[in-house]
Amino acid sequence: MVPRSIRILDVRIDDVDIDEACVRAAALIDAGGIHQFATVNPEFVTTAQRDAHFLNVLEQCALALADGVGITLAARLRGAPLRGRVTGVDLTQRLCTLAAQRGWGVFLLGAAPGVAEKAAAVLCLHNPGLRIAGCHAGSPRPEHIAEIDARIAAAQPQILFVAYGAPAQDFWLHEFAQRHSAQTNGLLGMGVGGTFDYLAGVRRYAPRWMRHIGLEWLHRLLSQPSRWRRQISLLHFAACAIAEAVKILAHK
Ligand code: UDP
Repeated sequence: MVPRSIRILDVRIDDVDIDEACVRAAALIDAGGIHQFATVNPEFVTTAQRDAHFLNVLEQCALALADGVGITLAARLRGAPLRGRVTGVDLTQRLCTLAAQRGWGVFLLGAAPGVAEKAAAVLCLHNPGLRIAGCHAGSPRPEHIAEIDARIAAAQPQILFVAYGAPAQDFWLHEFAQRHSAQTNGLLGMGVGGTFDYLAGVRRYAPRWMRHIGLEWLHRLLSQPSRWRRQISLLHFAACAIAEAVKILAHK
């Protein structure tokens, strides 16, 4: 079934909850071939505004999920509320639960050396029986492609999480799928940003109350002040999303 979707500044957002995302993941893996999910936040949207290739990569994803409270707010503003957020961290954990039940192998690619292994240990603790097919930091640089491809081919995972930050991780997965377009084994790839860092305890989650009222961005800014440039894109997103919502409401 094709989910309802909306467009925010041209980026498609699928209105699915986390249960439906898992059902879709299982169906795609069972169907075979390589498929990609993206967890879209406002920074993705502002990047896609400048980069048509990124916009196209997101468009081709099997699911573009609403990560980031800015996306759900923008949807509500235009009178087309989404059912909720599906964050990369939450979906990673739920997909690992499913993987443990289904006997799928999970490969964790990216983050600083040693972080994926620590994240994998936490995921195994929460999901007894989870099979970690591989962990590797690597890098999105072209000279590392052959080695990473060989590791993944040897590990034969059904789920591949890539933590290179957006848009690098999403480009990496898109190109991986193109390089292996003849593959018949089912594989779901998803860019997960800082998820391994959170799971491994390298980065701290925002306190629950901050997450509850959508202030994760403020926690990030306070804990990683060097991100201030990236956070400015949130203001740009807010201005563009409000302008778009006003235009849509005026034509209703
Ligand atoms: N990263 C990496 N190699 C790179 C660039 C980034 O392994 O060349 C990792 C980085 O260590 C972090 C993750 O990618 O674990 C992305 O974190 P970021 O905070 O940028 O992602 P976000 O959560 O903001 O999407």
